[in-house]
Amino acid sequence: MKKTKYVFVTGGVTSSLGKGIIAASLAKLLQVRGYSVTIQKLDPYINIDPGTLNPYEHGECFVTNDGAETDLDLGHYERFLNIPTSQANNVTTGRIYQSVIDKERRGEFLGKTVQIIPHITDEIKNRIQLLGNTGEFDIVITEIGGTVGDIESLPYVEAVRQLLWEMGKENAISIHLTLVPYLAAAGELKTKPTQHSVKILMQSGVSPDILVCRTEHKLNESIKRKLALFCNVQEDSIIESIDAETIYDVPLLMMDEKLDDVVLKKMNLPIDKKYELTAWNDFLKKHKNPKNTVEIGLIGKYVELQDAYKSISEAFIHAGATNEVKVNINWIHSESLTTQNVPEKLGGLNAILVAPGFGDRGIEGKIDAVKYAREHKIPFLGICLGMQMAVIEFARNVLGLKGAYSDEMDPNTPYPVINLMEEQKSIVDMGGTMRLGEWDCKLAKGSKIANIYKQENIQERHRHRYEFNNDYLEQIESAGMIATGKNPETNLVEVIEIPDHPWFIGVQYHPEYKSTVLKPHPLFVDLVKAALEHSLT
Ligand code: GLN
Repeated sequence: MKKTKYVFVTGGVTSSLGKGIIAASLAKLLQVRGYSVTIQKLDPYINIDPGTLNPYEHGECFVTNDGAETDLDLGHYERFLNIPTSQANNVTTGRIYQSVIDKERRGEFLGKTVQIIPHITDEIKNRIQLLGNTGEFDIVITEIGGTVGDIESLPYVEAVRQLLWEMGKENAISIHLTLVPYLAAAGELKTKPTQHSVKILMQSGVSPDILVCRTEHKLNESIKRKLALFCNVQEDSIIESIDAETIYDVPLLMMDEKLDDVVLKKMNLPIDKKYELTAWNDFLKKHKNPKNTVEIGLIGKYVELQDAYKSISEAFIHAGATNEVKVNINWIHSESLTTQNVPEKLGGLNAILVAPGFGDRGIEGKIDAVKYAREHKIPFLGICLGMQMAVIEFARNVLGLKGAYSDEMDPNTPYPVINLMEEQKSIVDMGGTMRLGEWDCKLAKGSKIANIYKQENIQERHRHRYEFNNDYLEQIESAGMIATGKNPETNLVEVIEIPDHPWFIGVQYHPEYKSTVLKPHPLFVDLVKAALEHSLT
């Protein structure tokens, strides 16, 4: 049983400073030093989870093995640390209030008035300590979403204040991430926004132990001294976080700035051990020195906000490095595709990926893209909705089932090749009710997909309501699209492929959630390889 120490990360001045990347980078360095670390994100919004949020609002919804629909920062944590997260790693205000209100209804507060302090703050403190109480981790890093000073962040900062006080200096520390803007007209870096941000934090009783300062220019000694003096922080604890070429450089930048040393010193943990980020550096070297470029089209309906497909674009970075290839993602809005313009828009691509999604906006464009990839023998990967569209396209254009569709888009279709499972039909709530999380899948011996994974029993993560309709399986298979991956218990189709095509695979699950820097996903690696071969012919 480990005695867990805690690092709290807050943010100030503006949002989008990259708290998640800083937290993940620190965790990476501590992990390489031999500490077991995990990261938790607390989100101050009232949704129970981001599963019901439009991707335009909050980017991708990341899914964990245990089926939690979570913030996209958890994807970064997994990609950096190469260990899975779970529901306990992401908590929202909605979830906190829900459990406090449930307890109130059960009479657990014994007639007391239920209040933000202590009841909501106690619940936040319990959630923070849940991961530590497993005894698995030396260090838990807890990232508080939002910016200090926001009304909705206040209970979180108060919970952090209490924990810092209760746990004591060596067992819990506070890192504050701020912005040091550069005023071009004055030719100067400005410390005042950081001073104000720290002041706001101090008004809530939290004095940061470490400041991580986002900046476009190097912080010189006098700026560091000024920040230290006016923010009540030791000089060696002012960490510069300069803009990086890629997020994967950030652990190295933090290593140069000795963020991990400072953290360990403050928590009285040994820092003598030398370490190297060998595998990480290998990856970066390949990522930065590609030998070829491939053009991959990502067909989706949220392409204006690329964060909506974060795990997919990161999986391409991992797979590109493995192949020593630069993957140029061509973001193509499915609504912009028509049967007429598809050759012009997709003609130059070396591979086509039809993305996950919900609802019928832009759906016919996705089907046209599948058709083009199938007929022109362009490597194709369909993920979740993308796989469903591949089945629909095949049913319509190869089997001649006119009007074939998914129940989701047309409940009256004469050929519902994709439909709702029986157990989904009675569900009315939208949140947390899909087929979620990790499920077993058995791959057919000798199939392309089994060769790619180099194994037949796999586990992948799901997030969908609709399924391949097995009533059409025989008909579809006899025409040349084969179900080569199935759930061993329910027989639900999880993978389809067309053996008579150089590379045509659709997966009902989301392989992108499992790709990490140290373990790029085999499907993405093989797709990029196929794209490279396509580009060379
Ligand atoms: N809308 C589809 C379903 O619910 C696909 C979901 C997805 O692509 N994640 O089944």
